[in-house]
Order: sequence, then structure tokens, then C-alpha cells
Amino acid sequence: MIRLLLASLLATTVGCTARSAPAPSTFTGTAPLQITCTVGMLGDIVKRIGGERVELTTLMGPGTDPHLYRAVPSDRKKLEQSDLVLYCGLHLEGNLGPTFDAFRSRVRTVAICEKLDPSVLLSEEGTADSYDPHLWFDVSLWSSVAQLVCDELCEFDRAGASEYTARTKALRTELAALHQYVTEQVQTIAEGQRVMITAHDAFRYFGRAYGIEVMGIQGLSTADEAGVRRIGELVEFIVERKISAVFVESTISEDNVRALIEGCKARNHALRIGGELFSDAMGAKDSAEGTYVGMIRNNVNTLVQALRRSS
Ligand SMILES: [Zn+2]
Repeated sequence: MIRLLLASLLATTVGCTARSAPAPSTFTGTAPLQITCTVGMLGDIVKRIGGERVELTTLMGPGTDPHLYRAVPSDRKKLEQSDLVLYCGLHLEGNLGPTFDAFRSRVRTVAICEKLDPSVLLSEEGTADSYDPHLWFDVSLWSSVAQLVCDELCEFDRAGASEYTARTKALRTELAALHQYVTEQVQTIAEGQRVMITAHDAFRYFGRAYGIEVMGIQGLSTADEAGVRRIGELVEFIVERKISAVFVESTISEDNVRALIEGCKARNHALRIGGELFSDAMGAKDSAEGTYVGMIRNNVNTLVQALRRSS
């Protein structure tokens, strides 16, 4: 009987542990808040909005591919010590899902881009409920994400709300000007030459927002292998449309782009590398491209220079 009672007590205790309290939904500590983000583009806007009130850790540095990134032990330590974890979601940081799930009950963990209305998102080709996560390339959409970051911070840390709101307003004004700049720059490329061929499909939002035809050699994730057939199809397209430049990406190997150049050469069509674009990571810290605005400006300038020359 006693043994039975003990077993029942033990079960209750274990049950209670499993049903631990949810992660705190508001910040009750002393600023600065410890916030951990995944990709630099998100970290940059969090820093702009959070200012001195936030101490930011960005898990993925320049040149890091978020599709393939796996948590290292020091990441778990950073997550453990965070007040708030913000990540993009929409499967961008695919391998970090189980890590986030392990911390979700202890630290407030938010997939910020998943708060957007799905009607503004692009579906992954061939799927109805899976979305393309590369939305920072539509500056107006990234500005909406900035507002979501602001809303999240204001709710989590009410004492900082007026600061966050003022900084978000300034940031969104700057992003509106950037959106305008990109729009105007793309318009300077001859219409038939507004074609962007890159190593993976990171630029579909860019294409939709600014009127550029976008083609990737690989599928959405760099975990997929580019097929010989896909290269052949693209060579056909490039020769037919007389496209003279393709682009390499900061987080992706150039091998597939080189295969494309070789394929065109065999068809007596000169195709060159128009430059390097930042895709899923920003440039080096302390460089102009090490910020979201700088990264976008660099990309559009590289694109315009290469495609304008070829028109
Ligand atoms: Zn990507």
C-alpha cells in the first residue's frame, strides 16, 4: 500500500515537472534585455529598434547559410541566458527547430515572420502551406517585419515601449526611402534585361516587389542538389534571351554558377559573373554591407551595374 502511495506521489511530482509554467510573456528584469536572434538581417532591425535597451546576440555571422545551420553548444548557452529569442521561422532556420522547441517553455521564443498575414507571402513552389522565407529582399515587407518586432518588444517590455516605437518610426522612414531607391534603380535596367539568375531561389520577393524575373539554379534550400537538367534549361533560356550576367551569392558555393557559364560557353554564348550578392547573410561586421540597409544597397548596385552594362 505504501509502495502504491509512493508511486502515485512520484507520478504526481513528475506530472508537475512536465507541466512546468510557460516562459514569461513579459520582462520583469532590469534593462538591458538579453535578446538572441538567428540571422543578421533580423538582428540588425532588432538592434535598431532596441537600441541601448537591448543586448543582442546574433547566432549566424557573415557567410553563414541559415538553411544548413546547426546549433553548437555555445548557442544553447546563449539561448538559455536570453530573456527573448527572435527568429525568422517559415523553415528558414530549419535545423534549429528542435533546439528552439527545447527552450520554448523556459524562454519566450518567437518566429517573427510567421506573424505576417500569409496572403503577403509567396508559397514555395508546389506547396500550399509552406512559404518562401527570404522576405527581407522586399524592403516594404521587411519594414512590416520591423513593425512586428516593435509590437513584440513593446508587449514584452512595456517600460521600453515609447523608445521602441520612436526608433521603429525612424527605421521605417529609412526603409521607405530604401524601397524607393531600389525601385528607381531597377527601372534604369532595360526591360528585357531585368533578369536575375543566381545560385538558389533567394530572390523571389525581390523579383515580385521590383519587377525582376528571378531564376535560381537550385531550389529554395541549398540542401537540394542542382540537377543537370535544370542547368540545361537555364543555359537554353540565357542563350535565347541573350543574358550576359549571372550572380554568385555570399552563402552559396559558386560551382553551379560555373557549370552554367561552361554550358553557355559550349553554345558560344559569353556569360560572366556579374558580381556577388548577399543572400541569406549580411556582409562583414563594421562594413557598409554589415547592415541590412547596406546589404540591400550593395545588391541593387551590383545588379544594376552588371545588367545595365549588358543591355
Ligand atoms: Zn536561402
